[in-house]
Amino acid sequence: MTATTLEKATAEKAATVEFRALRREFGATVALDGLDLTVRPGEFLALLGPSGCGKTTALRMLAGFEHPDSGAVLVDGEDVTHVPAHRRDAGMVFQSYSLFPHLNAVDNVAFGLRMRGVRTGERRSRAAELLDLVGLGDKGERYPHQLSGGQQQRIALARALALRPRVLLLDEPLSALDAKVRLTLREEIRRLQQELGITTLFVTHDQEEALSVADRVAVMRAGRLEQCAEPAELYGRPATAFVAEFVGTMSRIPGELADGTVQVLGRRLPADGNGDVPDGPVDVLVRPEALHVSADELGAARVVATAFLGAVVRVTVRLADGTEAKADLPAHDTAGLGAGAAVTVSLPERAVLVAERIQK
Ligand code: ATP
Repeated sequence: MTATTLEKATAEKAATVEFRALRREFGATVALDGLDLTVRPGEFLALLGPSGCGKTTALRMLAGFEHPDSGAVLVDGEDVTHVPAHRRDAGMVFQSYSLFPHLNAVDNVAFGLRMRGVRTGERRSRAAELLDLVGLGDKGERYPHQLSGGQQQRIALARALALRPRVLLLDEPLSALDAKVRLTLREEIRRLQQELGITTLFVTHDQEEALSVADRVAVMRAGRLEQCAEPAELYGRPATAFVAEFVGTMSRIPGELADGTVQVLGRRLPADGNGDVPDGPVDVLVRPEALHVSADELGAARVVATAFLGAVVRVTVRLADGTEAKADLPAHDTAGLGAGAAVTVSLPERAVLVAERIQK
């Protein structure tokens, strides 16, 4: 994508979005249960969470397609909760390509401008600029069925940007694409968003996607916000066990908590966060890169499996008590660690995250 027409593609200034205590029930289902969240001007914020946690409902409330039972949606401090969708200034891209099949690319992009009464010449030149912006300047005459899925999503993106929206809403826009296109397009969307500086909400249930493109990631669970933080913080300092396990890979290793320290894998380490976990049996939550595994014929643990992941090898080990845990080791550092090998498993001298013990 090129950025020659960027200033023409953006609204005057980036918007702040606030969700305040949003609640929405559908019959017996509570889709949103008091969602509080602020999106900063120009921010790319990913809404991440398991299926059914309320991500799409929150996004649709910002677009004006859905209304809360209580709570409010504010854009730049203005309460838009009851403003109809067509006056919200939101550009939206959906999972399904949702282009008009009987219109070519230019006319799809220009559709909203036509509805607004923009004259033909201006409409067509603006649509052409936007097609350039998404790298499809030469495909304007093509109809949706003559375009690939990735190209159709670029057209949908150009269409969403055509009206210079204050916010860009992306509802799983990459889910229907194959892995390679998905990867390229997410990087392009990110670059375009940064260049345009447009406040963007991106709904996804794919944690890797969220961590790789967003400025901040808001993890939702059962209609509420669990944690909103920058990717590195979310990964490195998850506020709850739910976030820890939803974001990235996490092993649970049994330990004993007492007075703020935990006895685990033969050593006592400071226990971090989640101050509400009571003393006694706990699970220590460990990232694969934090776990050390070394070949040791006297070791009480065994290698169960290894998987080559490129730069690292993920080694699954079974501890003496039967617990399985995962460790990532540099590919050149795995001699003697084949399946069945006896090993010693240890943790570095660092604070660890603890959670209530889950009986397996
Ligand atoms: P997914 O990742 O599967 O799309 P989500 O996090 O986006 O999930 P929502 O689509 O917001 O979740 O739905 C939240 C809950 O509300 C779900 O249990 C869903 O079935 C329910 N729900 C959403 N819209 C409606 C509706 N129009 N009528 C009835 N129930 C609904």
